[in-house]
Amino acid sequence: MSTPRTPQPRPFRRRTLWLGFAAVLLPLAVLLCLEYRWLVKLDHASEVAHRAALANYLEAVAEKVQSFYNWNAEKSLNVPYTWFTEDHLGQVAYYFKKKPPKGARRLFVASFVGEKKGQILYFDSTCSTFSQPPWSAEARAVYVATSSWETMAHKGAELETVTLAVDERDPRHRIILNPIIDDRSKVVGVVGMVLDEEYFRSVVLPEKIAEALPAFFLADDSRKTVVEVRDRRQQTVFSTDPSFVGSYEVEKPLRFVFTDWSLGLASRHPTPGDWARSNFAINLGLSALLAAVLLGGVILALRTASRQMKLSQMKSDFVSNVSHELRTPLASVRVFGELLRLGRVQDPGKVREYGEYIENESRRLTQLINNLLDFSRIESGRKSYRQEPADLAELVRDAVRTFEVRLRQSGFRLIYHGPEEALPLLRLDPSAMVHAFSNLLDNALKYSGDGREIEVRLRRRGAWAVLSVRDWGVGVARDEQEKIFDRFHRVSTGLVHDVKGSGLGLAIVRHVVEAHGGRVEVDSKPGQGSTFSILLPLDALAVEEAPGQDAQGRAGEALPPLLGGEA
Ligand code: ADP
Repeated sequence: MSTPRTPQPRPFRRRTLWLGFAAVLLPLAVLLCLEYRWLVKLDHASEVAHRAALANYLEAVAEKVQSFYNWNAEKSLNVPYTWFTEDHLGQVAYYFKKKPPKGARRLFVASFVGEKKGQILYFDSTCSTFSQPPWSAEARAVYVATSSWETMAHKGAELETVTLAVDERDPRHRIILNPIIDDRSKVVGVVGMVLDEEYFRSVVLPEKIAEALPAFFLADDSRKTVVEVRDRRQQTVFSTDPSFVGSYEVEKPLRFVFTDWSLGLASRHPTPGDWARSNFAINLGLSALLAAVLLGGVILALRTASRQMKLSQMKSDFVSNVSHELRTPLASVRVFGELLRLGRVQDPGKVREYGEYIENESRRLTQLINNLLDFSRIESGRKSYRQEPADLAELVRDAVRTFEVRLRQSGFRLIYHGPEEALPLLRLDPSAMVHAFSNLLDNALKYSGDGREIEVRLRRRGAWAVLSVRDWGVGVARDEQEKIFDRFHRVSTGLVHDVKGSGLGLAIVRHVVEAHGGRVEVDSKPGQGSTFSILLPLDALAVEEAPGQDAQGRAGEALPPLLGGEA
């Protein structure tokens, strides 16, 4: 009778796996989408903010340039009007020396009243009086710049407020003028400066660009900012990085002076958008890593759960199989025992047969109970082996004898090949070794199917004593050959499925053999039978050289009548 095994709930596992994937991947995907949308928004916003910051920086530079010239002109060009009206213009030279203006190539004073009326006095950069050739381009520019003021003076026009004026009609001679008015607000003269373009390019611009920078960028990042100045023909007249080629991100004209020149700015600073983009890439990588770790966790958890389910399935199969294994032989023993007790069987042949039956079933029960006891000792770590010198061939023959009745009843023929070369006595735990060998024989009987032949062979192979049990039964598929040595593991298909068993036999065989320093090998093909071999190391276990050939159960030796003895 067979108890159907509950199949592993595969669809459930697959569904759980998908759920696990979804639980990890969906939130991650949503998170990444949100982050991406946020990144796009930030990109736009940061672009605007970045441009605004750059424009503000240029504005600040332009402002600083303006204040520089304003401040210098205010400081140096404000002479008292009485010097014009009372003819003290000679003092101007001392005044200029005392307050020398920066950025001026030339200074001049044009008087529209008094003795010096109509004259223009020039001073060089050292503030010394200087006679300007009247036909020079500079003299012309100064003349043009002052003439409108002179006209105003002649007309007696009054000025309510006085502000600095700039004349850039000749771009090579840019002039700042300060009109001087008397106590009646009438223009009495002008004091002016012709700007030094070279000074502007080499001193003022670099200084003001550097001064404005810290308010907008990190000092270390100065090399990431390129500021250029272009003239009215778009020729670069100044650049913080002459090797720079490219277009500006923002442009601004200069104010007050050099108004036909413009400041341009190219920045290699990372914008918040750049930060966010690189952050996004890092986040993407981290998220992928996280997903991989989480998925790994899900898979691991599922595998563990599935293993646990399998183990519990195997345990419940084990309980059901073992109860069945115990109940069936006990029932037969009881029935046959009763028949004998009641004297219902008189025929001596029958009495013998029933007696053998009872003996055989009790042996099977003993074997099963031994397996259970051994297993429990192995599991709790209490299993110990008492090794003593033993003749392996003798043990094998004794074990075979105990199977005699069962073999006969099941119609089996057992062929035994003893060792051709004598084996030494081995240091073994005899009962454990017989137990292991019996498990192999028991399996050969159980899983032989229609094959009715079993071959037992004991031989020496190099440094090993090899005890093998061969059958021509159902065989074991390759992918099961390792697993069948695990506790409770039973092949769940075909004939094996219908044969009862505890799933402990081979686990015990392996434990016993490995405790003796040996190993178990299986050679099997489904449908063609199996050979299970116990290999014991002679070097480690041999006690002394072989005793007489007789004791070894040599090939061709007489065996019990039902067994075939072959070379
Ligand atoms: P049991 O025989 O009680 O199930 P075992 O540990 O002895 O437990 O064997 C484990 C499994 O190995 C068996 O259930 C069976 O599937 C397979 N097996 C063992 N011996 C053989 C054999 N000689 N032929 C085919 N299959 C075998």
